[in-house]
Amino acid sequence: MIIVCPSCGAKNRIPEDKLDAQPTCGKCHENLIPFAPIELNEQNFSNFISHSDLPILIDLWADWCGPCKMMAPHFAEVAQHNPHVVFGKIDTEANPRLSSAFNVRSIPTLVLMNKTTEIARISGALRSSQLQDWLDEQLKSFQ
Ligand SMILES: [Zn+2]
Repeated sequence: MIIVCPSCGAKNRIPEDKLDAQPTCGKCHENLIPFAPIELNEQNFSNFISHSDLPILIDLWADWCGPCKMMAPHFAEVAQHNPHVVFGKIDTEANPRLSSAFNVRSIPTLVLMNKTTEIARISGALRSSQLQDWLDEQLKSFQ
């Protein structure tokens, strides 16, 4: 499967059974699966979304949003436990075009994508256990 490097954006072909062996980027040698949310923005978004063979869970947030900040450590924690999902964050203030493309009505909003297809979304802050349960549920119906 194709994994887009979170550090340099290079596309890496990784056998699915090697995903858990901490694969590194052939170009920049950084970890391909960083176990931490990556920053998505109007520059790198389409590269990730169109090439990554892993589902992508996006947290749409803003600096002024209290519940967003409350959820951030929970989102990061769940990212550590789900190496087969790419966790990305989009700052809606810094990326107004992305934010309007997602038609975001309230934040935080989580959107689960498979390539360019939206699979599910949920709004409002979630604790890590709630977030994991929701994610498991969505992945079950999608696989
Ligand atoms: Zn790289």
